[in-house]
Amino acid sequence: MTMIKRLGFVGWRGMVGSVLLARMREEGDLEHVEELVLYSTSQAGQPGPELPNTRPLLADAIDLDSLSTMDAIISCQGGDYTQKIHAPLRDMGWQGYWLDAASTLRMSDNSTIILDPLNQSIIRQNLAKGQRDFIGGNCTVSLMLMALHGLFKENLVEWITAMTYQAISGGGAQQMRELLIQMGEIHEHVTPLLRLQESSILDIDSRVNEYLNSSALTTGAIGSPLANNLLPWIDIDLDNGIGREEWKGYAETNKILGRENNPIPIESTCVRVGTFRCHSQAFTIALSQDVGIDDLADIMGQANQWVKVIPNNKQDTLQSLTPAAVSGSMDIAVGRIRKTVFNSRIMTVFTVGDQLLWGAAEPLRRMLGILSEYQTDGDS
Ligand code: NAP
Repeated sequence: MTMIKRLGFVGWRGMVGSVLLARMREEGDLEHVEELVLYSTSQAGQPGPELPNTRPLLADAIDLDSLSTMDAIISCQGGDYTQKIHAPLRDMGWQGYWLDAASTLRMSDNSTIILDPLNQSIIRQNLAKGQRDFIGGNCTVSLMLMALHGLFKENLVEWITAMTYQAISGGGAQQMRELLIQMGEIHEHVTPLLRLQESSILDIDSRVNEYLNSSALTTGAIGSPLANNLLPWIDIDLDNGIGREEWKGYAETNKILGRENNPIPIESTCVRVGTFRCHSQAFTIALSQDVGIDDLADIMGQANQWVKVIPNNKQDTLQSLTPAAVSGSMDIAVGRIRKTVFNSRIMTVFTVGDQLLWGAAEPLRRMLGILSEYQTDGDS
C-alpha cells in the first residue's frame, strides 16, 4: 500500500467513526498515511487522541480552506454535515476523494456506493472514469448483500422480502445511551414491586406499560420508548406507505449491483428493536431455479470469507445466530436456511451482521486501501 498523503477524518468520535478508527489501528492503516487530520464540529482546538502521523489538536470540521488541503476526506459525521460541506468544497475546485458513511450522496450520478466484495469492478471502473465520491451503503443493505452474495453471484434471486430487526446503534451514540437510560428508568419504576416475591406480575406489567406511555420516560434522542418496545418505522416517511429505510433496500441494492436497468424487486419492513449492536434480517427469497438446500448453503457459505453458515437446528441457532454472538466480529452469520411450504423455489434465510463493521466502517476502510493501490498503479 502506498500513501494517501493527507487524510482528513470527520466524525471519528461517533459510533461509525470510532469503530472505523479502531479498525484502522488494528490493521495498521495509519502507517500508510503521511498525515492524518482529525476534525470535529464541536471540539476544534482541543487535543485529540494520540495516533501515528496525527496532528495533536483537532481541526475545525467546517474550515473549508483546511479541508481543501486533504487528498482524501472520510466523513462519518452524518448527512447534515455532508449537505453543508461537500458541495461548497467541490465548488472551490477540491479534487480529492470524499468517502462518506451518510446517505446524502449515495444516489447521485457522480457517486459510487461501495461494497467491494460485491462491486469491486464497478468501483474500479468509476475510479478510472474520474469519479471522486465513494459512499458506504445503508447498513442493512450492505449486510443483506454480504449474506446473500452467493445467491446474487449465481443469479438465483428473483425477488426478496426482508423483515429487519435493527439495533439502536444504527441511530448513533446518543440513542444507544438513551436506550440504557430508558431501561434503567423502567427498572427503577418497578423495583419495589420486583423485590416483593408476592407481587403480581400483572401489576408489574401494567406499571411498566403505563410508564412507557407516560411523558416521564426519557425519549429526547430516540423520539419514542424503545426499551420494552419495538418501532416498526425507520427513517423518514416517504408518504407512499413506506419508510426511506425500506426504499433503500430496493434502490441501493440495485445500484450496488449495477442493476438499475434490470432491478431485482425487494420489499422490506424495517423495525428498530432494543438490541444494542447488529442488524438481523429474515428474508423470504424466490429463486430463479429450484436448487437443493445443501447446495444453497454451500453457495452462500463459499461466496466470501466472512459468511458463516449456521446449521438449521435450535442449539446452533441460539448459540451462533444472535446479535450477542456476532457483535464486534466481522462474521456475517447466515442460518435458518430452509425451503417453504409454498413452493420449493421459495426459501427463507435469517442473517445477523455487525452493522458498524460490514454495515458501515469496513467498506470505507477497504476503499482507502483501493485508493492507495490505485494511486500506486498510476491511476490505472
Ligand atoms: P453518531 O454516533 O451520532 O456520531 C456523529 C457525531 O456526533 C460525532 O462525530 C460527534 O461529532 C457527535 N457527537 C455528539 N455527541 C456525541 C457523543 N456523546 N459521542 C460521540 N459522538 C458525539 O453517528 P453515527 O451513528 O456514527 O452515524 C454517522 C453517519 O453514518 C450517519 O450519516 C449515519 O446515517 C451513517 N451510518 C450509521 C450507521 C450506524 O450503524 N450507526 C451505519 C451506516 C451508516 P463531533 O466530534 O464533531 O462533535
